[in-house]
Amino acid sequence: MNIHEYQAKALLRDYGAPVSDGRVVTRAEEAKTAAGELDGPLWVVKAQIHAGGRGKGSFKEADAGDKGGVRLAKSVEEAAEEAKKMLGRTLVTHQTGPEGKQVNRIYFEDGSDISRELYLALLVDRQTSRISFVCSTEGGMDIEEVAASTPEKILSFDVDPAAGYQPYHGRRVAFSLGLEGQAMKQCVKLMGILYQAFVEKDMEQLEINPLIVTEAGDLKVLDAKVGFDGNALYRHQDIASLRDETEEDPKELQASKYDLNYIALDGEIGCMVNGAGLAMATMDIIKLKGAEPANFLDVGGGATKEKVTEAFKIITSDKNVKGILVNIFGGIMRCDVIAEGVIAAVKEVGLSVPLVVRLEGTNVEKGKEIIETSGLDVIAADDLSDAAEKIVKAVKG
Ligand code: GDP
Ligand code: MG
Repeated sequence: MNIHEYQAKALLRDYGAPVSDGRVVTRAEEAKTAAGELDGPLWVVKAQIHAGGRGKGSFKEADAGDKGGVRLAKSVEEAAEEAKKMLGRTLVTHQTGPEGKQVNRIYFEDGSDISRELYLALLVDRQTSRISFVCSTEGGMDIEEVAASTPEKILSFDVDPAAGYQPYHGRRVAFSLGLEGQAMKQCVKLMGILYQAFVEKDMEQLEINPLIVTEAGDLKVLDAKVGFDGNALYRHQDIASLRDETEEDPKELQASKYDLNYIALDGEIGCMVNGAGLAMATMDIIKLKGAEPANFLDVGGGATKEKVTEAFKIITSDKNVKGILVNIFGGIMRCDVIAEGVIAAVKEVGLSVPLVVRLEGTNVEKGKEIIETSGLDVIAADDLSDAAEKIVKAVKG
């Protein structure tokens, strides 16, 4: 689960990280009062969306002005004006995709004088199963770009969880970023704070880009992108309450309400499968046969008819879906339950694309019979390869 920059900064501030004072608004009428509560003389006006690259982004609407989603202002009035231009408009960045994201919140922040922009992130390194620090002197830039063209400018190392964070980790970051004097001391402290927050709050990602050195020589967190492990949210009610559902893919949100493991993808074949391994294999074979999956969907082991119906509805609501492949291996899951769910969903929402169904396992005969006698235009398949071939042929001709 991701949160907004202003929420991440509030959290880090509580841990003692150096963050500027700021105010968030959702309505244009609140803008002037909120901006007026900050000292100036420089205000930063920041669009709050769950995507990076806002500064270099652009708005779809002409009346938003030709600046990006991070704007500097020299007065309360100017700050409020810029906020009004962005609220309700659609910001497109390299992370939002061409459709962009609607800006529903604006964060005003006390502006900082920047001497250097650095990059810092804490991540879970899946290879070592440890928390790893990643830092670079090339802050404020697209880190993927830095990694591709000048990988030597990125330092990365992980922390032994048994010993935990030690000051030498912080010094290593500080040396590699070329920090001296007070900034070096602040770095050692800040890295400890970030590591502690990361562990205690079950974060998955904590990216500060940029971490800055101010003109006065102090370290400051200027941007913050934080993601949490969804499986640990049950023990962090405070974090779970920060969830902004308007930022999430509506199909994924709907799926999570029904406890379906669904991830939206870019392809044209919708998949409904039981079991994560089978779902991965189904996606692979669709690719092998020359098409792309529109989603990953694991309906789980003990899915009910209602769950299957909901899953089917989510797939058909995706405009990119040009065909559907249902691939079920009934173990705990019974094929007749799947068949009933599919039929119920088709009756409710209709079916305008080809549908291939492959059933195998518990109650397979009963399942096949339900589908055959339903009168629906379903293409039956015998095995996984056959099923993938049939759906790709039905979609691509
Ligand atoms: P992002 O584009 O979504 O990553 O948003 P950031 O919060 O990283 O802001 C983008 C850029 O705006 C930063 O890299 C800075 O160059 C600039 N910026 C942000 N805050 C300030 C500030 O307080 N003072 C100044 N001078 N520039 C800022
Ligand atoms: Mg940034």
